[in-house]
Amino acid sequence: MLARTRRILVTGGAGFLGSHLCERLVSAGNEVLCVDNFYTGSKDNLTGLLSNQKVEVIRHDITFPLYVEVDEIFNLACPASPIHYQHDPVQTTKTSVHGSINMLGLAKRIRAKILQASTSEVYGDPEVHPQDETYWGRVNPIGPRSCYDEGKRCAETLFFDYRRQHKLSIKVARIFNTYGPRMRPYDGRVISNFIVQALTNQPITIYGDGQQTRSFCYVDDLIDGLVRLMNTCDDVVGPMNLGNPAEITMLELAGMIVDLTGSRSAIEFMPLPIDDPKQRRPNISLAQKSLGWLPSFSLRDGLRKTIAYFESLMIARGAEAAR
Ligand code: NAD
Ligand code: UDP
Repeated sequence: MLARTRRILVTGGAGFLGSHLCERLVSAGNEVLCVDNFYTGSKDNLTGLLSNQKVEVIRHDITFPLYVEVDEIFNLACPASPIHYQHDPVQTTKTSVHGSINMLGLAKRIRAKILQASTSEVYGDPEVHPQDETYWGRVNPIGPRSCYDEGKRCAETLFFDYRRQHKLSIKVARIFNTYGPRMRPYDGRVISNFIVQALTNQPITIYGDGQQTRSFCYVDDLIDGLVRLMNTCDDVVGPMNLGNPAEITMLELAGMIVDLTGSRSAIEFMPLPIDDPKQRRPNISLAQKSLGWLPSFSLRDGLRKTIAYFESLMIARGAEAAR
């Protein structure tokens, strides 16, 4: 008997991670339903997919109910960069909370497996280092980052309540900073900012003293982790950290990007944003044990690919402007 093609819903499918995920799922032979309100996502991210018969794109805001029939749901819809999620904080909370309720309600009606794209931000500014999944976090509930952090925390609560109350098959991934092609050049995130600044020989803007740390995962590795998590049996639920444990200060990151681009940029120090976490590094033992997953790209290799993407974007834009 022929196996039926799986039909998979990806919310936020036109975004940075979502578009890579849609591509990965289609290339594995699945049908993909990409749902997005195009707040931070774009059809440009789906260029390679729009003419594919296995892909359907729907403009829809997940804070409103959605009636479709699918086998699995990856819930990625939510702006991820501080500039974008702080622009309309109420909508950000609604997307995580109402959006999760709608997607969980959909999963419950059609008995679909559902995965939530949660975040390392649930750990806030952590006192435990590196962070493992048993740590409950230190999050400011009333600050400018709270709409994102608390929205994602509440979404995790909803996922676990739907599991306990409605026996839903859920997966929760806690994603740490991820980078790669299709990040938006002006989304305010550190890697996109530094690369654009370096390529245009503008000052590299370091917030605070640059001693704060992050751990950056290349997009292909992250997508591999998400797909592996979705494909586990019902007992594997998470929350599960997905990220690259190689930790670096923002000052070191700036140096690496200047070096890789051969830039003449100087360093400029600027005020540290409110509630900016001082350090962040995932403990990924659980993912390693449950998924057999380990990131494979070094930061240097991933940055080379990301720099090449931004260069191509700037050449294309330059050519357009010159026309
Ligand atoms: P992104 O902003 O590029 O993608 C988010 C997508 O969701 C966009 O296409 C946007 O238009 C869409 N969207 C936003 N609100 C929506 C709504 N109400 N209804 C429908 N679509 C909506 O961000 P990303 O980096 O691709 O992140 C994807 C997911 O992964 C997010 O949930 C984010 O919180 C999570 N995450 C990302 C990172 C990272 O480093 N990129 C880290 C941790 C968690
Ligand atoms: N950052 C910086 N310069 C920039 C943008 C960001 O020094 O131009 C710092 C920011 O203060 C934070 C780190 O880089 O300490 C990562 O910021 P990002 O917004 O990319 O991710 P998040 O803070 O959400 O982990």
